[in-house]
Amino acid sequence: RFAPSPTGPLHFGSLVAALASYLEARAAKGKWLVRMEDLDKARAQPDAADDILRALERLGLEWDAPVLVQSARLERYRAALDELTRRGLAYPCSCTRKELEDSALAIDGARIYLGTCRHGLAPGKAARALRLRTHGAPIGFADAIQGWIEQRVEQEVGDFVLLRADGIIGYQLAVVVDDMDQGVTDVVRGADLLDSTARQIHLQRLLGARTPRYAHVPVALNAAGEKLSKQTGARPLDLSDPQAELARARRFLGQGENGWDLARVPRVRAICAPE
Ligand code: GLU
Repeated sequence: RFAPSPTGPLHFGSLVAALASYLEARAAKGKWLVRMEDLDKARAQPDAADDILRALERLGLEWDAPVLVQSARLERYRAALDELTRRGLAYPCSCTRKELEDSALAIDGARIYLGTCRHGLAPGKAARALRLRTHGAPIGFADAIQGWIEQRVEQEVGDFVLLRADGIIGYQLAVVVDDMDQGVTDVVRGADLLDSTARQIHLQRLLGARTPRYAHVPVALNAAGEKLSKQTGARPLDLSDPQAELARARRFLGQGENGWDLARVPRVRAICAPE
């Protein structure tokens, strides 16, 4: 599946993830699904979702089931949150951003949560977010491109947010519930999400979901070494010449002009995008 956040038009970095997941699904004679991860309304751009879908069509990347839109599934995420709370796995947290500032940084730049509210809120404190209890045993998986990846979520990330203080459902919960409900067997996506995968596997196990196979393709960087994104000024794709854009993405993924061989994808987390 390809799961873009509609924060802007499709750019080369998102095309790489879209194309790799599409070709892998086609090679496996499977279905390719598209999902709009539009829960963060402050980051979403009006029209971006439509623009992305039109761009995929223009590129000839056809999806095989109706597009799943996360903002239409709030009740489903709520039900998962309720279940995790009922089972004592999720708990309310009153910590403010300011209060978390002294904690060490996790690999993704967020703060490691030290479990302040794990055993209950301090007197007089109000719940802001909901967090998931984690454990210290390593969670590992064999990534089809990046090899064996392992993380001790409790030490390296901490109990993570399922429901944000602004009321928005956390990315990790939504992704796991959706992959489960959509019956996703294979996740092909950018290597910037490698460090989220152990969290997602932890949640899958708690929710009784099957862990899909993972393949994390290199992320495309600009000349300054930043991940291509709208924020770093990535140019939108030139849809007047879709074949040229597809050819660039194929080369980036180590492929020849035809076919698809996952084994040829460079086994690194990031590569500079060709100009
Ligand atoms: N929506 C996420 C992004 O655009 C991708 C999530 C995923 O593929 O799991 O970075």
